[in-house]
Amino acid sequence: MTILEFQQRFGSEESCRAYLFASRWPEGFLCPACGAQEVGAETGRHLWICTACGRQTSITAGTVMHKTRLPLRTWFWAAYLVSTFHPGISAKQLQRQLGIGSHETAWAMLHKLRGAMVAPERTPLKDEVEIDEFFLGGYEEGLKAGRQRGKKALCGVAIEVRGRGSGRLRLATLPDANGVSLGAFVTDTTTAGAIVHTDGWQGYKPLAGLGFDHRPLSQRAALPGEQLLPRAHRAISNLKAWMHGTHRGVSPDHLPAYLDEFVFRHNRRGTPMAGFQTLLGLGLAHDPITYRDIIDRAA
Ligand SMILES: [Zn+2]
Repeated sequence: MTILEFQQRFGSEESCRAYLFASRWPEGFLCPACGAQEVGAETGRHLWICTACGRQTSITAGTVMHKTRLPLRTWFWAAYLVSTFHPGISAKQLQRQLGIGSHETAWAMLHKLRGAMVAPERTPLKDEVEIDEFFLGGYEEGLKAGRQRGKKALCGVAIEVRGRGSGRLRLATLPDANGVSLGAFVTDTTTAGAIVHTDGWQGYKPLAGLGFDHRPLSQRAALPGEQLLPRAHRAISNLKAWMHGTHRGVSPDHLPAYLDEFVFRHNRRGTPMAGFQTLLGLGLAHDPITYRDIIDRAA
């Protein structure tokens, strides 16, 4: 959906509520208390009343927007920007773009939306995976721009090989680059038995013993100008560009949340509206509702 389509589709509170209703109850209303499918009138406070048992159900119950004082439109826009804008968005940018009153409110919204970014059902990477480790950070707030470097954090990257392109991505901070830490990172992110490409670092030696088809590469084996782990290196350079451009003041404590956000957008780059629904806390039990579905239903 383009930004113009989004604006037209979700230009009013009513249209946002209609979308929530269609996303939560794609087969029509279902009472969470008694399972009846008969719904009465919508109250002035936008609660739906079950005609069988009288239970009132809020359209936002179970979503990130429940009991919010902010307009639904603001939440929809925030989720849209966070899930579809490639560079992502900072709390300061969100506050400015959406006219949110305080920085704290914008920060809290981003925090809630980011809470949905680690999908509990996500499955490990498989088949063929590139693994590498790298340093990230040194952009901490309070340091003179570009002169003093903050503390850099060691991170691990794992990315699926899909033909000439890349599949799913995982990132994590690492305590160090020894065999125990790297073995734990690969075991956490990748299915046993997968082909695992790494460089020749000794910390990767335990991988064969952990059940992986480990294929270490030596730089000497590469042709001049060729990168050993091209997908991993592309992901790392994109991550660094994003971190440096959008989130200059990230302390190491918050780094894992930013890694999750980067992974979230990477892994949903082909299906941004699915990412949008996930962030709002919708569509977990079924396929994402498309714009087309809504149009078809209304017709
Ligand atoms: Zn009921």
